[in-house]
Amino acid sequence: MNLRIGNGYDIHRLVPDRPLILGGVTIPHELGLDGHSDADTLTHAIMDAMLGALSLGDIGHYFPPSDSQWKGADSLVLLDQVHQLIQAKGWQIGNIDSVLVAERPKLKPHIEAMRDRLATTLKVNPDQVGIKATTNEKLGPTGREEGIAAYTVVLLMPN
Ligand code: MG
Repeated sequence: MNLRIGNGYDIHRLVPDRPLILGGVTIPHELGLDGHSDADTLTHAIMDAMLGALSLGDIGHYFPPSDSQWKGADSLVLLDQVHQLIQAKGWQIGNIDSVLVAERPKLKPHIEAMRDRLATTLKVNPDQVGIKATTNEKLGPTGREEGIAAYTVVLLMPN
């Protein structure tokens, strides 16, 4: 069977006076993620995995931070564009599996909403979008609450 697999990783800094947006869902927290776009690290990791599966480079190539049109961009809009690109190349999402690494806030109560938003954007069933959340046991930058990281694998199937 003709299948392609891609992996993606992203991390953004936690800072005051920014919203915390993960998987297109705004999560109440005293800190948010810093970045040129909305800094949705989960959605960025998913886009990189989709592009990586087809050796199409990374999101920095398509949406460069140097381009002011992406300032504050809704990452779900960018995800839709990446999805259209992979569809145009003849591929569709098989499934996605992601891990979010955050010490705080508790992400588990928001995971179903993230799965729904991502699945709606990608026009797939929520059961094709797996998201898990873990802490980093207070180790490293995520464990010190300096940032939130995301790891993703995506399997693509022919359209
Ligand atoms: Mg990013």
